[in-house]
Amino acid sequence: MEVYNLDQSPGAVTATDTRTRAKPQRRKPRLHCAICGHLITGNEHLRPVDGVPRHIFTNPAGIEFCIACFSAAPGCFVAGDPTEAYTWFPGCCWSMAHCSECRSQLGWFFQHLDGDTFYGLRVELLEEREADS
Ligand SMILES: [Zn+2]
Repeated sequence: MEVYNLDQSPGAVTATDTRTRAKPQRRKPRLHCAICGHLITGNEHLRPVDGVPRHIFTNPAGIEFCIACFSAAPGCFVAGDPTEAYTWFPGCCWSMAHCSECRSQLGWFFQHLDGDTFYGLRVELLEEREADS
């Protein structure tokens, strides 16, 4: 009796799953504010700073931050006067970067003395979602 069940062996199911997963996908993940869901930026704006796009820093209070660097973050607004105090990137001044919807601070906006600018946003405050289209 059990011989007939071999036609429905787990191996056949696995092969089907593999074909399904192999379907081409157009992934354009968007990064939203984890607090209110507002669209902040997208992975296409990720950019390396000092060689890598992600950094882990500890502030003077001993709190560790994991940040990702973006060339643009249209869902943020920048607040405060730029300062170089305790900067994580030598030669860069920083201001605070807030969600333009709920105003939560999501990270920092950095301005290098040579004119280069980028956002450093806290990874834990960004929620990745697929684009609708
Ligand atoms: Zn928000």
